[in-house]
Amino acid sequence: MTERVRIYEVGPRDGLQNEAPPISTADKRRFVEALLGAGLLEIEATSFVRPDRIPQLADADELLPSLPRPAGVRYPVLVANRAGLDRAAAAGADAIAVFTAATDAFTERNIGMTVAESLDRFAPLLSEAGQRGWWRRAYVSTAFGCPYSGRVDPSRPVEIATRLLELGADEVCFGDTIGVATPRGVRGVTRRALAAGIPVDTIAHHFHDTRGTALANVVAALEDGIRTFDASTGATGGCPYAPGAAGNLATEDLAYLLDEEGFDTGVDLDRLLEAARLIASLLGRPLASKVGQAGPWRVQP
Ligand code: MG
Repeated sequence: MTERVRIYEVGPRDGLQNEAPPISTADKRRFVEALLGAGLLEIEATSFVRPDRIPQLADADELLPSLPRPAGVRYPVLVANRAGLDRAAAAGADAIAVFTAATDAFTERNIGMTVAESLDRFAPLLSEAGQRGWWRRAYVSTAFGCPYSGRVDPSRPVEIATRLLELGADEVCFGDTIGVATPRGVRGVTRRALAAGIPVDTIAHHFHDTRGTALANVVAALEDGIRTFDASTGATGGCPYAPGAAGNLATEDLAYLLDEEGFDTGVDLDRLLEAARLIASLLGRPLASKVGQAGPWRVQP
């Protein structure tokens, strides 16, 4: 039997939050429907953070309840505090993601607190979400490198991930926030996590293609047994730390690689490319991904 790899789609949240052209709630719903149509089962749909901080996602309260809910589909939403959790609950959420990082320099600038303080803040959120029976993911950003403090010792993200799992997270996701990781760093974090006793099926990786290394990093992680990867259809999101540069790995590029490597992703590449073209056109720009530009591999007549 073909081995399954989970593709965790972050386009509607992590992709769109860094895109300026306003997208209507109805168009976001069309995008999510197109992603479902392509076979994606986990779609991070939006973020219940302060609307003035991320105007693009200010319609979270309206969007989430409007999404179709086929069996087996999960729509995690980002929450940062108690108010966000309450809003998510009112909108019918049943899966959340919380967000910290491997370095104090990053969390202090981004969320105004140390990593330890962020864990104190998330502990009750993870606990309450657990009592509600929700699925819980926790991001560890800057796991491979930090824009403010540079190289990150792999012991650091692994310690934080261990703590997040103790606090009730069902999955930890190591993020290459600024797109500096190469396979060596990926093996460093992955192997240390496994050696620390973190179950392989609770680890996800979130790579950015800022320096062209995202797929190489995926292959390195696959070789160490990781089977969950984040990606953004249409490669939306950019890189907030390098204006104009690439950010999120494109879901269509990831899906192509995984198909050709013999894994089952459940994703139909042609339908995924339709979703990618839809979001590119809504953002008013050409499709940036490699497979988006080249198309699927078809033998010429
Ligand atoms: Mg990202």
